[in-house]
Amino acid sequence: MKTQDFIEIEEQYGAHNYHPLDVVIERAEGVWVYDVEGRKYLDCLSAYSAVNQGHVHPEILKALLEQAKKVTLTSRAFRNDQLPMLYKELSEMTGYEMSLPMNSGAEAVETAVKLARKWAYQVKKVPRHQAEIIVAGNNFHGRTVTIISFSTEPSYRDDFGPFTPGFVVVEYGDASAVEKAITSNTAAVMLEPIQGEAGVIVPPAGYLKAVAEICRKNNVLFIADEIQTGLGRTGKLFAAQHDGVRPDITIVGKALSGGFYPVSAILADKSVLGLFKPGEHGSTFGGNPLAAVARARPRVLHEEKLAERSAELGEYFIEQLSEITSPHVKEVRGKGLLIGVELKPEAGGARRFCEALKSKGILAKETHDNVIRFAPPLVIDKETIDWALPSIRETLNMT
Ligand SMILES: *Cc1c(COP(=O)(O)O)cnc(C)c1O
Repeated sequence: MKTQDFIEIEEQYGAHNYHPLDVVIERAEGVWVYDVEGRKYLDCLSAYSAVNQGHVHPEILKALLEQAKKVTLTSRAFRNDQLPMLYKELSEMTGYEMSLPMNSGAEAVETAVKLARKWAYQVKKVPRHQAEIIVAGNNFHGRTVTIISFSTEPSYRDDFGPFTPGFVVVEYGDASAVEKAITSNTAAVMLEPIQGEAGVIVPPAGYLKAVAEICRKNNVLFIADEIQTGLGRTGKLFAAQHDGVRPDITIVGKALSGGFYPVSAILADKSVLGLFKPGEHGSTFGGNPLAAVARARPRVLHEEKLAERSAELGEYFIEQLSEITSPHVKEVRGKGLLIGVELKPEAGGARRFCEALKSKGILAKETHDNVIRFAPPLVIDKETIDWALPSIRETLNMT
């Protein structure tokens, strides 16, 4: 079967909730993916940063295969011999006392929302069911009904109400807006350290630090959604560390499993995460023994110095992209290897540039209408970036 045959079947039998580039991938290795017609492409999306360590990383593959032969699912009705080690290794890697694994990112965000509300009632003594959580405009935290309830993006929300109450939206990047929105019922402030889906929006330096201080002063939890920015993507283990901030709750997902299997988690200290009691929250697959995959992932992150690579190569990539003269480019921005190239409104949208890049063997995806995101696996090297740059330059200069 050819590319077009697969596309036709997919369009006929599948829901059309995505608008993928028309490339049908059949296998992948490291930073490269291969389509059903044998064409090779540089992956500059990394499945929205879920394959930071590169596609089909041999060590993670080995961990998955070995565990899959032994036991894959116990549910948490019983204990298994992998979960304790995952807890311990996550704690050693991140410095948080405890964690709670879930599956998808959205599920971990929901877990953080529930935990923050519980903390508000039990510790802060907010009147029951009155807790408020402050979030930022243009946020992306996932797709459940509660999460889209505080989205400001019409396409995420329209026709999906009624919505979950208890959220207050303020402008991203403005710490004083957070301060003004705090009331005695505020449980938490939840932010992305860099807004990935909004178009790689990097807030002013010091913003997260100021918000964290406002939270501490007002007895409010600070939650960082690091599902996209965490685990080395921006050049540090967590993007909040660029601002010297240690949030009360950090949410991770995506790259936690190296792209093999959905594993997400929330990280917090015992004074917060210790509040969940048996029966109050759960997930059949959350914390299953295949979490062994997530155990291999931190080792890879550390041993291959992926955060350091991301910092160094990201700086180089941003610098090289900034030097491209193009009539279409408004701004190049990012941190580490999470990079956005924003096009001018009159450029005709980012999609056509992504299509053109595809024909040159580079897979990048538009985010919103005018931003091309470049976020290759962190195992990319300088030679590969140098290989891609002439094609990117040519594409950004097309008419
Ligand atoms: C992708 C993403 C999510 C949602 O993760 P899913 O696994 O798709 O549910 C939440 N927050 C951020 C910042 C993300 O990038």
